Amino acid sequence: MSRFFSERHASLVPYTPGEQPQIPIVAKLNTNESPYPPSEGVARAIIGQIGKLQRYNDPACAALRAAAAKVYDVAPENLMAVNGSDEALFFAFLAFCDEKRPLAFPDITYGFYPVYADLLHIPARAVPLRKDFTIDPADYGGPGENVVLANPNAPTGLYLPLDGIRRLLETRPDSVVIVDEAYIDFGGKSCVPLIKEYDNLLVVQTFSKARSMAGARLGFAIGDAALIRDLETVRFASNPYNVNRMTQAAGIAAFEENDYYMQNCRRIMETREFTAGMLREMGFEVLPSLTNFLLARTDAVRGRELYRSLRNRGILVRWFDQPRIADYIRVSIGSREEMELFLQGVRDILRERSESK
Ligand code: PMP
Repeated sequence: MSRFFSERHASLVPYTPGEQPQIPIVAKLNTNESPYPPSEGVARAIIGQIGKLQRYNDPACAALRAAAAKVYDVAPENLMAVNGSDEALFFAFLAFCDEKRPLAFPDITYGFYPVYADLLHIPARAVPLRKDFTIDPADYGGPGENVVLANPNAPTGLYLPLDGIRRLLETRPDSVVIVDEAYIDFGGKSCVPLIKEYDNLLVVQTFSKARSMAGARLGFAIGDAALIRDLETVRFASNPYNVNRMTQAAGIAAFEENDYYMQNCRRIMETREFTAGMLREMGFEVLPSLTNFLLARTDAVRGRELYRSLRNRGILVRWFDQPRIADYIRVSIGSREEMELFLQGVRDILRERSESK
């Protein structure tokens, strides 16, 4: 820390992103990316912008929001485009939370929620998940307390059905409920249609998972027009050109080829069920996931050791040094071939361990 670093941030512990490896890798299954490349129109759209890079991008993202509005079946006023959904979360915390409007989220969830809360000095309450890692909506939203939930949750993969979200919205009409739907396209039902009924619902979506564009950085905040106006105020007070022109064009092209991405999601869901089945056959406990990853554990080898042994074989998965889930590994669902390599790696590690006993 330099002597210039603000005291306000002295105890800030930043988020640790999953490793983006510089070593030769056999299967990269650690950051829940799509194994499939973007659709062809996306490449054309990006190339089409190169000769225009001397000009600023549209800060209102008008064409992109019009394309998004069609797919999400809302009005453009209900949408804001962002530089990855992390930015939507950041703007939402900045806009709606403060000392008087603290924030609650599950104790096991996306690691950025507590980091942003810390950065912005928002009092935060981590609410324990039930023993089976499910969410009890009744635990959230004390007086004046906003709520952020990932649905499905990460890294558990578990999905909270929409009546649970409805209950939360109805019993806490004066709290903003942020539902982070990063993984919604892998089998869950989106709560975007509920924004027409509840003015306290903000839904956050990303192009990093189902739409194969983690490296382009695109996401959306979707909600009542008044909530979106507040977010726009914060955005225009910080970084109005947040979504660059190549990403805006890529997003429009991807919405035009939406069927391609939804077909990929179906393939990923099939591969997920295949992988879960094979892991269970090997004696793993696997949480029922509606995402593009699995959280799994076995008595035969601790989570950290399994993670390390796989990494030594060039297979990257994620391990969280965190109470309650330290015994687990999280494996993203790649292509069928990548998952076969992963499963073979696990089989070899288990065999070597049983032989050395
Ligand atoms: N929410 C959840 C639950 C996530 O797992 C992630 C990705 N790690 C994000 C949001 C952020 O995604 P991005 O900023 O790439 O859109």
